Amino acid sequence: MSKVTLENVVRAYEATALVGGAPSRPALDHISLEIHEGECVSVVGPSGCGKSTLLKVIAGLELPNSGHILYDNVDVTHVPPQARGVGMIFQDYALYPAREGQGNLSYYFEVRKKSEEEKQQRLRETAEMMGIGFDLLLSRQVGTLSGGERQRVGIARCIVRDPNVFLMDEPISNLDAKLRERTRVEMKRLLTRFGITTVYVTHDQQEAIFMGDRIVVMRSGRVEQFDSFDALYYTPANLFVASLIGTPPISVLSVEHADTALYVHDGQHWSLPDHLAVGLPAGRLRIGVRPEGWQVALEATPNCLPISVSHIERLYTERAAYVHGQIGGASVNALVPLDFPDAPRVYIQPDWEHVYVFYPDEETPLHLPGVPDLF
Ligand code: ADP
Ligand code: MG
Repeated sequence: MSKVTLENVVRAYEATALVGGAPSRPALDHISLEIHEGECVSVVGPSGCGKSTLLKVIAGLELPNSGHILYDNVDVTHVPPQARGVGMIFQDYALYPAREGQGNLSYYFEVRKKSEEEKQQRLRETAEMMGIGFDLLLSRQVGTLSGGERQRVGIARCIVRDPNVFLMDEPISNLDAKLRERTRVEMKRLLTRFGITTVYVTHDQQEAIFMGDRIVVMRSGRVEQFDSFDALYYTPANLFVASLIGTPPISVLSVEHADTALYVHDGQHWSLPDHLAVGLPAGRLRIGVRPEGWQVALEATPNCLPISVSHIERLYTERAAYVHGQIGGASVNALVPLDFPDAPRVYIQPDWEHVYVFYPDEETPLHLPGVPDLF
């Protein structure tokens, strides 16, 4: 297991730079990161933001144009991938097809001449953690395994090999929902048990939160923020991170701050509590409110504004619901109890302790709620 450090890594594909003559942003644009030994870091961001390129550069499959990659403070920038001791799993990972599952796992030990005892011990532990029925998978020919089974054998194989770094690129996105959930629990248990340093790319936010001790948010080849889920959620570095993290997303409203109130549209306004009336600059602003940061009433209520409801999304397993609606052209998503009645119109105001405030033309926040003291 290694600590992994990226120092100012740039990776530009010439092909993209030449499109239309104008040079575009590099796939990786001065990335600096430090991934602790034994930590699992998730990487999220829109398609094309450089997640796969980041993994390839860490693995040595792509060479950076500039910058350095270090494993345990040793520069491996020019060390070939097979000498780095990385385990890699991709969305459609190919196993050695001629071998049965067991052979896939033990191949590494045969090549590296590990002791039979060591091999069996680690195999046993891995198979145990992969859960009931995994032994059976191991004895079958790869060709007879389903996609999901292959992927689980592939993951186990990587873990048995004791890699310095484990790199996974959307490893379970092809599996159905149930198997995805089960496989991610198995993976998390194995990674924690063996303390393997892991970089885990996914477009699924729930998966990123579940797998990652910390999360990297990328956009256009840059790291926007690298922190715990709570920090990304409550203290986002900018509006991009605030909007990406959280489902349904934060509602963002354009407002005008005047006379200790926030005007939303048509003269409709919320009166501000004193600390915000004094603390916020006058003029145009944007406020962000998370679904759980709204107070919602069925009847007209003091200091609440009406919103037109488009639909109510009921989450029966969570015993909760989301009211989706509009106010002044902006979307609002508000959390309510499961039994909240259907209504074409409801009345809302932000819970003022939980608002995020931005300037109209700047992404950096002006005011953040901070991480709540829940426990
Ligand atoms: P992600 O995995 O986040 O979807 P990628 O790392 O695959 O993003 O791609 C980042 C950027 O680099 C994209 O603009 C993509 O088009 C470009 N890119 C990736 N691989 C290549 C390649 N082999 N040749 C040219 N451009 C590439
Ligand atoms: Mg990708």
